[in-house]
Amino acid sequence: MLEADKRRLLDALKRQGISNNRVLKALEAVPRELFVPAGQRQLSYHDHPLPIGWGQTISQPFTVAYMAQLLDIQEGDRILEIGCGSGYNAAVLQEITGETGQVFSIERIPELVQLAQEHLKEAGYRQITVTEADGKQGLSDHAPFDRIMVTAQGAQIPPAFVRDLQAGGVLVMPVSSGNSARMVRLVKRKRGDHEITSHGAFFFVPLV
Ligand code: SAH
Repeated sequence: MLEADKRRLLDALKRQGISNNRVLKALEAVPRELFVPAGQRQLSYHDHPLPIGWGQTISQPFTVAYMAQLLDIQEGDRILEIGCGSGYNAAVLQEITGETGQVFSIERIPELVQLAQEHLKEAGYRQITVTEADGKQGLSDHAPFDRIMVTAQGAQIPPAFVRDLQAGGVLVMPVSSGNSARMVRLVKRKRGDHEITSHGAFFFVPLV
């Protein structure tokens, strides 16, 4: 039942423009049912966000795939996620960057940090580091990062994110205007300045 739902989901993602094979393989590999609340497991491979408690949500599979594809993750990349939530997106990022890569994720709600750590352990992603902190400060102790993914919407890109991004690195974040947000992709150039492009409208929980 879940397997059939997963196949349908992957086909739908392809039809909606997800073509990066590493991204599709990662969504196939990560058991999303281990990251959603027990009472909602039957909805694991429906293309919806789901509530995970504390007013937060596990992102919709399409959004996870879309952002990961925009990030253009390479094998072995060091990746920072802001907004760990359930831990699902961190697991997808780890699958994409592979065994030689490293994923760091920041979450501000202590109960979600613990929950994400439990989910990640159960699903076998032991190398992911989840830090309890205000993500807006970045993670300078472990910088620079090749890729940064922000899974909560804010009115602007915090300067610490650009500081912690490797030259040549890519950041993807929903930047809000009113209630919704546009998906912004920032590339930090080798000479230090950066280039920003916009990639459609989305809705996320706020980066507080
Ligand atoms: N990536 C998650 C979805 C997370 S929803 C998943 O795959 O399940 C966004 C998350 O960002 C929430 O858990 C919220 O608590 C967290 N968040 C919001 N503002 C934050 C901040 N300033 N620092 C760290 N985490 C933050």
